[in-house]
Amino acid sequence: MPPNAFSGAQLTIDLDAIAANWRALKGHLKSGAEAAAVVKADAYGLGLGAVAPALYGAGCREFFVASLDEGIALRAILPECRIYVFFGPTPEDAAEYSRHRLIPVLNDLGQIDTWRGQSQAGQGGEAVLHVDTGMSRLGLPGDEVARLAAEPERLAGLAIAYVMSHLACAEQCGHALNGAQLAEFKSALKSLGAGTTNAGASLANSSAIFLGPDYHFDLARPGAALYGLNPTPEQPNQMSEVIRLQGKILQVRRVDSSRSVGYGTAHVVERPSRIATVPVGYADGYLRSASNQATNQACGYVRGVRAPVVGRVSMDMITLDVTDIPPQHVYPGAEVDLIGGPYSVDDFAADAGTIGYEILTMLGQRYRRLYIENGKETTPWANANASRG
Ligand SMILES: *Cc1c(COP(=O)(O)O)cnc(C)c1O
Repeated sequence: MPPNAFSGAQLTIDLDAIAANWRALKGHLKSGAEAAAVVKADAYGLGLGAVAPALYGAGCREFFVASLDEGIALRAILPECRIYVFFGPTPEDAAEYSRHRLIPVLNDLGQIDTWRGQSQAGQGGEAVLHVDTGMSRLGLPGDEVARLAAEPERLAGLAIAYVMSHLACAEQCGHALNGAQLAEFKSALKSLGAGTTNAGASLANSSAIFLGPDYHFDLARPGAALYGLNPTPEQPNQMSEVIRLQGKILQVRRVDSSRSVGYGTAHVVERPSRIATVPVGYADGYLRSASNQATNQACGYVRGVRAPVVGRVSMDMITLDVTDIPPQHVYPGAEVDLIGGPYSVDDFAADAGTIGYEILTMLGQRYRRLYIENGKETTPWANANASRG
């Protein structure tokens, strides 16, 4: 029995589309630049065990994760690739980076010293050096860059593969901070000089790939666009769609004027209505903030016809107004498209007051998950069986 075999909702994840998106992003890069893949947070919620091999199959050989635990998990899935870990080492866990052949991102002078100590004690010494150019989150701040430039012996014995930074506003192509960060990054690269002479440079996330070749350097680090989110929100999405969420109607009822729907009487019907209940709720990542609102009303689609979410999203269910949909199409067991097709992840995110990244990473564990690979549907269960022989 596959997991969630009887779930009233199905999440389909198109691994072919992820592979196509990686190739498309790589195709956008100037010649000589490479594309990595960011697979932190379980590949943005889509399942590291399925997504990482699909990206490897497309030709990707460099992967970024956030945490050491994610790096160890990825190493077990892909024995041959290069794995970079954004959080970087602590004195307590540095040895684990060596043990699993993980390449840390070094975010301050303390991490540089820790990793130098570890690489003298053990093998390796490869690392990525992260300089902060405007995020004020991780990475060496300007004064530490200056100090490192003055004390290059701090990098002795280390092999810096890349110097990287991260943009704060890359999805807004006209934002002044983009150019400012680019200039600061270039000047950091220049001032670091010795100790990083053999290093490449890496600046671009998904959106920054579309800011033009000045932002590409040697290695791009796309995440979101691989998973079908729009990296150019000011223009139509040019990435292939990756996820599709469908629910099955549990019940349909007539609700007469003056009655309300759901908790808190949030929706009072103004005309005799038909309401369909679908078994997907905020416990599944269908965010409660998508509850019916005067503007930005979330919706599902029944056979291509829009059905607005009315009343509050509850833990396990939503209610849709299907009054305007032909009754023969609305019955227990009928399918409702919740995400995908006419209503993208980005559309749903906007209606829930958030971004597509959060919708993907919140996708719940109760859906029946299907993967599309080489044009065929597979379940994680089928994959596990296959690998067991
Ligand atoms: C998450 C992350 C990325 C990927 O960003 P997307 O916008 O998803 O393409 C790249 N670099 C760093 C440092 C990140 O944290």
